[in-house]
Amino acid sequence: MNDPSDRRFHYPFINCTNCGPRFSIIESLPYDRPNTSMKIFEMCDECKAEYENPLDRRFHAQPIACPKCGPHVEFLDTQEGKKILGEEPINATADRIREGKIVALKGLGGFQLIVDARDNEAVNRLRDRKHRDEKPFALMFPSIESIKEICDLSGLEKRLLLSPESPIVLLKKKMNIEYGIAESVAPDNPYLGIMLPYTPLHHLLLNELNFPIVATSGNISEEPMCIDEEEAFEKLGGIADYFLIHNRPIVRQVDDSIVRIVLDREMVLRRARGYAPLPITLSESEDNEKSILAVGGHLKNNIALKIGSNVFVSQYIGDLSTESAYKTFVKVIDDFKTLYNSEPSEVVSDMHPAYLSTNYAKSITDNHRSVQHHYAHIASCRTENQVTGTALGVAWDGTGFGLDGTIWGGEFFISDENTFSHVAQFRQFQLPGGEKAIKESRRSAIGILYELYGAEIFNDVLLFEEMNFNDNELEIIKSMLDKNINSPRTSSAGRLFDAVSSLLGISHCSNYEGQSAMKLEFAVDKNESGKYHFELKENGKFIIDWQAMIESIIDDRKNGVDVTKISTKFHNTLSEIILNISEILSEEKVVLSGGCFQNIYLTEKTVELLENKNHKVYVHQRIPPNDGGIALGQIAAADIKYSEFDLSSIKSYQNY
Ligand code: ZN
Ligand code: FE
Repeated sequence: MNDPSDRRFHYPFINCTNCGPRFSIIESLPYDRPNTSMKIFEMCDECKAEYENPLDRRFHAQPIACPKCGPHVEFLDTQEGKKILGEEPINATADRIREGKIVALKGLGGFQLIVDARDNEAVNRLRDRKHRDEKPFALMFPSIESIKEICDLSGLEKRLLLSPESPIVLLKKKMNIEYGIAESVAPDNPYLGIMLPYTPLHHLLLNELNFPIVATSGNISEEPMCIDEEEAFEKLGGIADYFLIHNRPIVRQVDDSIVRIVLDREMVLRRARGYAPLPITLSESEDNEKSILAVGGHLKNNIALKIGSNVFVSQYIGDLSTESAYKTFVKVIDDFKTLYNSEPSEVVSDMHPAYLSTNYAKSITDNHRSVQHHYAHIASCRTENQVTGTALGVAWDGTGFGLDGTIWGGEFFISDENTFSHVAQFRQFQLPGGEKAIKESRRSAIGILYELYGAEIFNDVLLFEEMNFNDNELEIIKSMLDKNINSPRTSSAGRLFDAVSSLLGISHCSNYEGQSAMKLEFAVDKNESGKYHFELKENGKFIIDWQAMIESIIDDRKNGVDVTKISTKFHNTLSEIILNISEILSEEKVVLSGGCFQNIYLTEKTVELLENKNHKVYVHQRIPPNDGGIALGQIAAADIKYSEFDLSSIKSYQNY
């Protein structure tokens, strides 16, 4: 690409058999040129000769192209109609980005919105127009060297950045240096999501700029990325000042994947480009010809299709709340059925009666099953790690529909290949306002306090002043709790994180999913080893009572103990709870899944404690611990049966 004598010098679509697009251009299998979106470009004689020569590096490289016969880029000014400008498109794009403008770039798996990452004003303009308050933006850096200037890179992080998958890697910023990156890229966040250029087009642009850019999904808030020009002009026209487009059609949207290093291994948090739809192989016992479709959950949705012993897990689709995400969800299901030429005989969904995915599953088949959300988390982690025999599963997340109709999220199971039992959960509390509590951690805090002290908490004027409720809201919340209206009970560990974040004054509301809990994690001080007390009670299963812990947290804060200390002691207590239950139940193998285990400190601490007591611990790597793992788990657990757990088999346990 950089050889001036080569006929593909600076050609943005140069590729060979080892690189170039694949999943984003395949229309049907087998992977042959006529079955790709490259079929509209007729090869020139030179390209054809390379394509047909077994000794050439481009032998049967399906996207083979050159400036003469292949796709090309265009630069458009959308402020004054859709005018194609005469300038060289990539230079023109670079010029406008240097001027602080926002450019929508048609990339590999969809549009990206690009802006100078050093320009606070420009990044804020992108935030305003995209209606995205604080959720971090992904960055693309020109080189490994430029990343090293602001982040300490481990060998593994460097390898991941340079890997063929080239995902966004969450990297910790160096302490006490000038970053040169606008604060508004990732406000109050010690991590940056960084990737390297991964297509020739990105390489050319970054070579030209030689500074980091924001490269975020081209969409409106949480909708799937735009993939074609017409849609992009309509939806992104109000966000981008200019468009850099090309005429190679994108067959399906594929977002940039996100990974982070946990326990010195890769953990995929958003599984898309480079990872999807590579299959996960089931163990032999599940290797049968039955074809099963799993429709996933609601947030961070993806789907999965089992064919024989392979489960093809789709790319990240997103939150099904928007019409456009739901349409994409239906499209991806049809797409997978066509692509793999398979009509599933069974469809599996979540148990939540109101999930759109559940209702869709019911509407397309008579052979519908459902798998409990948290057990699906455990099944996905078991499958990914090929765990066999009995194991304790710990599923901690924000929300999921429980077997008893309450909201679960802090659950323990004992399971093997055929059955699962619910053995423990957190003491439940009310969530005033239900769904609203997901965005407002202060509501979880009130729910916890109300559970402990009842209505008298509403006399604590100072507390609510800090939480910044207005009187009217407080009246409503109080009456919801008193009358038990729209205040579902939950055992969610995620909401417990939220509650503590709010009780410590760290975060009362979230601008995006999980923000309050993340801020609590960011406050951790690894040198603090203290922990709080908790109690185990029995009620057909173990109930983990956090009362002593919450009371100590409130006391500590009143006594002026540093919030970083309190946050760490809270995390340590949660790890201790998992160790304690594992020991009581004498389970050697422990499987950790659910969105809470995206928290590095919680995961690493828990694994350390368990391994010190000779437990074997399994965590996610290539499948996300969050709801992006649900579809795989639904397939793995489609046939599993529930069995009651007999507490009397536990001889003794003590409280901590
Ligand atoms: Zn050619
Ligand atoms: Fe979940």
